[in-house]
Amino acid sequence: MPIIISLDQGTTSSRTIAFNEKLQQLAIAQQEFTQIFPKPGWVEHDPNEILSSQLKTLELVIEQLEGQVDELAGIGITNQRETTILWDRNTGEPVYNAIVWQCRRSMTICDELKEAGLEQTFKQKTGLVLDAYFSGTKVKWLFDHVEGLRERAIAGDLLFGTVDTWLLWKMTQGKVHATDFTNASRTLLFNIHTKEWDREILELLEIPISILPAVHPSGYRFGEYFCKKSKKEIPILAIAGDQQAALYGQHCWEKGQVKNTYGTGCFMLMNTGDEPIQSNHGLLTTLAAGSSAQPQFALEGAVFMGGAIIQWLRDELQLIDHAAESEIIAMGLSNNGGVYMVPAFVGLGSPYWDMQARATIFGMTRGTHDTHLVRAGLEAIAYQSYDLLKAMEEDLGEAIQQMKVDGGAAANQFLMQFQSDIMQSKIVKSKYLETTALGVATLALQVLAPDEHIDLATTLDRVYEPQVEKAEVNELLAEWKRAIKATLYWSHDS
Ligand code: ADP
Repeated sequence: MPIIISLDQGTTSSRTIAFNEKLQQLAIAQQEFTQIFPKPGWVEHDPNEILSSQLKTLELVIEQLEGQVDELAGIGITNQRETTILWDRNTGEPVYNAIVWQCRRSMTICDELKEAGLEQTFKQKTGLVLDAYFSGTKVKWLFDHVEGLRERAIAGDLLFGTVDTWLLWKMTQGKVHATDFTNASRTLLFNIHTKEWDREILELLEIPISILPAVHPSGYRFGEYFCKKSKKEIPILAIAGDQQAALYGQHCWEKGQVKNTYGTGCFMLMNTGDEPIQSNHGLLTTLAAGSSAQPQFALEGAVFMGGAIIQWLRDELQLIDHAAESEIIAMGLSNNGGVYMVPAFVGLGSPYWDMQARATIFGMTRGTHDTHLVRAGLEAIAYQSYDLLKAMEEDLGEAIQQMKVDGGAAANQFLMQFQSDIMQSKIVKSKYLETTALGVATLALQVLAPDEHIDLATTLDRVYEPQVEKAEVNELLAEWKRAIKATLYWSHDS
């Protein structure tokens, strides 16, 4: 019976999960690694620690599979997206730390490109907005700031990769320099229409094409990893960026299907089928995971502070001891007492894209308790996700009836019910929440056995249906919109 291994390389930890042929979890291991904050707003990782932590968890999972190692049939890689690594192709050593997706250091480069009137060019070709979030301006920053780097790149000595490419290159002993469509579509360098690296953009950013990896479908035989334990080569059969992997793992394979992940941030993705939808409402157009050379498209909305609001309430304000306590507190109140929180701690992402915005709390009275702040925090997760859904509906031109959910905060029943109420749509939560790892395991299994029907082992946990009248919801939403408006005013004075 084939066993599939998913390597899930996340922002704060590396995880490995083994699945059987029915995609049921057999073993899991996880290891955190160092977050490096050299300056306010800068975030780095050590690429060698990314690799060692990932391989350590792989080793731990293989140990748990004692006796079954001969059944290891394939590996899938899913990863934190946009994070940028440059390394020397001769020595295999990184030339700088990984610049993490959260890192804001290339903001000025983005502003300059905007001032040069290039925003639409980038948007039309890459589906993305000019924001420091994506890899392209991070690479340019490295070339502009690290002496001799651009020359080394031009001489052909450097390679670029997002985290998947780095892991793949190392795991194949430097034989394979490749990525998949989903990761490529987050670099700001890839033309999502022609499915090629975009020469005009590369010229604008002064990036030589020789550093870029080959791009393949997410489900593809990328190369082989030599497993010391079984003394066998295991094929690497799938690669996908974490959010697209989750979309796939949630079985959103048809146009119009939507998932929202409630982790540190919230990421909502909708499969839009074979046609790209250019957003007029602050969303991103991106490539979805699949095995075809003509991948499907997705619309994506990203909220920076999701479950992280609850961490803030717990760690900085110390209003709760555990994240799960927020559910009981919120349910203990009949309403929010007029208190609204706009959690723009690191600016606002989709659909507002305001890097200067900062968090605010509105509507407090002498009767406001700490419990109201907790509830306002949870409600803010739901309101922000509502904004993403509305933006998607506007871009799509039709209502979305149902949304699949995952991520740590999806366990919060108050949050899920409130979400269903304000969206006035159905929320579907499955029992198995590791949808990212499941997504690439599914893709890898499909490459292994293309003709077999894959029966997803996930079972339904709960379906939430709206329980509040639309009129009541509209009143709440009007207040939320007012709070957003006031936050943007505070940020820009207009
Ligand atoms: P990530 O993959 O981004 O690290 P996870 O999917 O593991 O995130 O989810 C963790 C996040 O979910 C944390 O920010 C945490 O505060 C939040 N969280 C976890 N459990 C709950 C809960 N019961 N209610 C609200 N938020 C929660």
